[in-house]
Amino acid sequence: MVSRVIPVDAFDLVIFGGTGDLAKRKILPGLYRRFWAGQMPAESRIIGAARADLDDAGFRKLVADAIDEFVSQDKRDEAMIAQFLERISYVSIDATGTGGWDQLKAMMRSGVVRAFYFSVAPALFGAIAERLSSNGIADSESRIVVEKPFGRDLASAQALNATLAAHFAERQIYRIDHYLGKETVQNLMAVRFANILFEPIWKAQYIDHVQITVAETVGVEGRGAYYDKSGAMRDMVQNHMMQLLCLIAMEPPYHFDPNAVRDEKLKVIRALDPVAPQDIVRGQYLAGGGQGGYIEHSENPASRTESYIAMKVHISNWRWAGTPFYLRTGKRMRARASEIAIVFKEPPHSIFDHASGWRENQLVIRLQPNEGMNLMVMIKEPGPGGMRLVQVPLDMSFADALGEEGADIPDAYERLIMDVIRGNQTLFMRGDEVEAAWAWADPIIEGWEGRGEKPQGYDPGSSGPDDALMLMHRDGRRWREIRE
Ligand code: NAD
Repeated sequence: MVSRVIPVDAFDLVIFGGTGDLAKRKILPGLYRRFWAGQMPAESRIIGAARADLDDAGFRKLVADAIDEFVSQDKRDEAMIAQFLERISYVSIDATGTGGWDQLKAMMRSGVVRAFYFSVAPALFGAIAERLSSNGIADSESRIVVEKPFGRDLASAQALNATLAAHFAERQIYRIDHYLGKETVQNLMAVRFANILFEPIWKAQYIDHVQITVAETVGVEGRGAYYDKSGAMRDMVQNHMMQLLCLIAMEPPYHFDPNAVRDEKLKVIRALDPVAPQDIVRGQYLAGGGQGGYIEHSENPASRTESYIAMKVHISNWRWAGTPFYLRTGKRMRARASEIAIVFKEPPHSIFDHASGWRENQLVIRLQPNEGMNLMVMIKEPGPGGMRLVQVPLDMSFADALGEEGADIPDAYERLIMDVIRGNQTLFMRGDEVEAAWAWADPIIEGWEGRGEKPQGYDPGSSGPDDALMLMHRDGRRWREIRE
């Protein structure tokens, strides 16, 4: 398969927070990889902007170190890295101060795309947006990229939207949810809307339920105090898992167009039912394996914040009435695995004896590790001795199916940054989507806070609290095993 890299237009990209963890781990290495792949035109410039008192050489050293650490050996070509570094400069700016903005303005060129990546705490978004516009650094065509978290409830998300809207139009604002940049997540749309095979049965009539799992093996050590203010619902469900749910549940958009896709996602969020307390299980990981538990890591002995949540969600519309979506996500679980499983119903009439091994069809979409899809189908167990059924996967691992290209899937951040330069907002959250997701999440969070509920403990390296298993069992269903 021939690799197709279509260069984007030349750009000036300013990274506020250019010396931060996210810039070093994702943004700068990602940009280098796009440069290496030939997608970033030579005339493009990357400008780091942060508080640190660095010069160009100092920042280039930081970028070179980040490439060394986070780019795989096969792409680390000295000449390439040197060419990339020539495109990099730095300006020392305090987002809340007055110094540095003139210098930044002088660095911007006309005739290229201007993008500003806000890789800083959301509390600084307003100050930066205001200064970009009052200093005439951003114009009506400039784009801004903002990181999560986008608010911690509806009121703060609305305030953040209003702050940005005071200086930028919605078409200029790119709210990153890196889950949407994952290859498999986009493939979900391709599978649904480019094939006749699935869409006719993509509804409550044929789908028994959907499971979405995002399991991590790491705990919150090192950032526990920060995490304790959010928890799994705010950190994972309201944003990433909500986006996955939308892509599974949405109606076909009339066109693969940013607003058409986002309109359909918004309709799904608005159709979500409130979630009953008995359909929610929250957990905190316990100490074990020589490591502290959530309580120690959060440095808050009285913490009621969840490091795990499982919930049953209903979408009240014609397509999904009666088909629950089970979501679960947690830290310190038995394996690092994210997947979506569409679990189909039984055939209406079986000519085979169920005792002979029948299992339901499942379409399993793996987000990590090993992005790919598996369609679980029944076949006859080989050999003589009657009709015994066995479930086998029709395995589509991208790395296998697409050869070298499949093995070399760009990181979500790389793809999303290139989409910003192209001016394509399809994979970014619109302001009304984020607000609708908070409007759904707020009463759920207020519910357990109001009831003073404490999360249940679960063993590190497990699949979560026992009650989460019961959430499924009492409906006559079971979670898929969490494994890499
Ligand atoms: P960080 O603390 O490592 O870096 C913060 C950066 O902001 C630094 O470059 C610092 O110099 C700069 N900064 C701080 N105050 C400033 C000021 N007043 N003026 C100018 N620059 C200032 O943070 P991070 O982990 O890189 O996160 C950045 C943003 O990305 C946050 O909003 C975070 O929530 C979000 N985010 C981070 C990650 C991650 O993996 N690190 C993942 C998702 C989202």
